[in-house]
Amino acid sequence: MEKESGLPRGVKLLHDPVHNKGTAFTDAERDKLGLRGLLPPRVCSPAEQELRVLGNLRNKASDLERYLFLVSLQDRNETLFYRVVINQIEEIMPLIYTPTVGKACQHFSHIYRRPRGLYISLQDRGRVREILQNWPHQDVRVIVATDGERILGLGDLGAAGMGIPIGKLSLYTACAGIHPTQCLPVTLDVGTNNESFLNDPLYLGLERRRERGPAYDELVDEFVDAVKEIFPQALLQLEDFGNCNAFRLLQKYRGSLCLFDDDIQGTGAVALSGLLAALRISKGVLEKQRVLFFGAGQAGIGIGNTIVAAMVADGIPIEQARGSCWFFDSQGLLVDGRADLPQQKRPYSHQHPPVADLAEAVRLLQPTALVGCAGQAGAFTREVVELMAAQQQRPIIFALSNPTAKAECTAEQAYQWSEGRAIFASGSPFEPVHLGSDTFVPGQGNNAYIFPGVGLGAVCSQSREVTDGMFLAAARVLADLVSDEDLDLGRVYPRLSHIRQVSAQIAAEVAGIAYREGLAQREAPDDILEDVRQHMFQPLYPHYA
Ligand code: NAD
Repeated sequence: MEKESGLPRGVKLLHDPVHNKGTAFTDAERDKLGLRGLLPPRVCSPAEQELRVLGNLRNKASDLERYLFLVSLQDRNETLFYRVVINQIEEIMPLIYTPTVGKACQHFSHIYRRPRGLYISLQDRGRVREILQNWPHQDVRVIVATDGERILGLGDLGAAGMGIPIGKLSLYTACAGIHPTQCLPVTLDVGTNNESFLNDPLYLGLERRRERGPAYDELVDEFVDAVKEIFPQALLQLEDFGNCNAFRLLQKYRGSLCLFDDDIQGTGAVALSGLLAALRISKGVLEKQRVLFFGAGQAGIGIGNTIVAAMVADGIPIEQARGSCWFFDSQGLLVDGRADLPQQKRPYSHQHPPVADLAEAVRLLQPTALVGCAGQAGAFTREVVELMAAQQQRPIIFALSNPTAKAECTAEQAYQWSEGRAIFASGSPFEPVHLGSDTFVPGQGNNAYIFPGVGLGAVCSQSREVTDGMFLAAARVLADLVSDEDLDLGRVYPRLSHIRQVSAQIAAEVAGIAYREGLAQREAPDDILEDVRQHMFQPLYPHYA
């Protein structure tokens, strides 16, 4: 692809997804740009193009085919792609993100058609800088990078995890208006331990086991240094790294460039927001909550840390705040005396006899909220949900594991087994549930409510850092934006169709913190919200003639 200066002509223009308008090129543009005869004669409006796309999309036989169709549209005509995604966000987000993107990653090497993003492998050590310079756009503002070790709840997908950075960056543009040419997806290919991929002759990543030694850190170091040098204004979002690397990479790099880990911090904020909105339904207060997490990985610990930060900000002593969060992981309840606890789990190890059964833990601890983030489908059994409902008038039950097939329980199970009293949210979307004459609309605790807005705020203010305080503020803004009508239906998140307004509000709050705390590398504008809105990409064709 050409560097962005200068508009290509003729067939080259039709093959340039950034500038292509397809059948919407006007007669004057066709004459001026050497397109006459290369397109069918009728000039279409963007609305007509959208209608054609939706017709084709809805005719496809499976979600994976819909995903492929949308990817090919993105490769042909980005403006039209984003117009469709933005206008039909509720229908399309599950196709370009969870759950469909999970399937697309699993089949990546077999459905692969065209490259997108940058692949940096162990073999590239010593020339990562050169690889970043191969990227056709210079003004990169957001990079999403993965090493493919923990893709959704699907585990190690190696280089096939590339669908995740691509999907997240599409959401950055659709939900928060980061310009498509300012987004860069990156996969760091350090091998995979996925046996079926290693035995698959079509697997597109390095054919070796995952690097665990110093070579891993050296590659990540080289990558981070190259980002700072080549794209100094970029925010770097870490995504779907394995547990053993995610926490330490976040710790290691967060002071040195504008960086955050969405699985830890973004998840923390979106779940805290859901909890705060749930408390608007139950009329509870944060201070009085006891949260039991099923899963103590990035999501669980990230949510725990954010809840603790919110309680501390409310004036609760940190030890008391930590005492409100209990964790149940693959070894059972997290209690004192367990050997070899990683650093991030230690604050949540409490004095209690060991408990090996989740239902037993619920019975003993009487949590007000149960949060599933262990990727173990069906773990919230009827017994568990009934116990929650027997102990709490409005039990808060979040089944956050992705994709849908990994959810701890379905929306229907949560509502049915609690006789309609559960306040339920999930990681992947569920349809509304009808129980007798009542309708319940489950909220989706989708990180897309948080990270695009946080990123937009950091980009607009040119913040040097993304702080924990910014995530806390984002969670509170999001919870406040849930309408009373949504709460009446049991929905603890705003409708996805409002996501651009949500992102703008979050971005304004985040940028405000950056300006106030001296983190911004730009003068504060008079009206921060208006400034944020002005930054947002709109999927409108420019006039070339
Ligand atoms: P992770 O690999 O970091 O952690 C998984 C945790 O689950 C570990 O603590 C592990 O000990 C525990 N676990 C595994 N098997 C278990 C078992 N049988 N019983 C009890 N605990 C068990 O993964 P993560 O990043 O924390 O993500 C976990 C899940 O949460 C994934 O499915 C992911 O898609 C989902 N998630 C959802 C959201 C969201 O809804 N917004 C955000 C992030 C992650």
